Amino acid sequence: MSLTIKKVDRFQTCNFCNNKAIYDAPLMGHGGTWAYFCEDCYPSRGSHTIGTKFELKNEDELALDALGEDAYDASWEAAFMKVITREGRLEAIMEESLFGDSCGVECADGCVTEPDGKCPHGYSSLLLLAGLI
Ligand SMILES: [Zn+2]
Ligand SMILES: [Zn+2]
Repeated sequence: MSLTIKKVDRFQTCNFCNNKAIYDAPLMGHGGTWAYFCEDCYPSRGSHTIGTKFELKNEDELALDALGEDAYDASWEAAFMKVITREGRLEAIMEESLFGDSCGVECADGCVTEPDGKCPHGYSSLLLLAGLI
């Protein structure tokens, strides 16, 4: 049995009762159908093969999340853009995202996001920022 641990800031609701769901896993005997299970329902209804086990984020992680949302700084983003343009790194980043095997593009804070997207902290992909998309 291999469960992936996923940290969440709130629990889903069990599909069989109204308790908080600890597991997201296939139904017993219905491999293709998944459901949310609480601690009580999982042993008798879950398939116990694969799935996700939810754990609540601790206070530090929640604080980091909050910080991330506030961390967007347009002047830092603009400065970073200037530097990589001056250093000729933008072209390399563009090439990597078009022809490399990474499936995303860097943001100014080091996150990787979709070529035309923003990271969770509000920074745009460098391609988007450069007006190349
Ligand atoms: Zn339940
Ligand atoms: Zn980010």
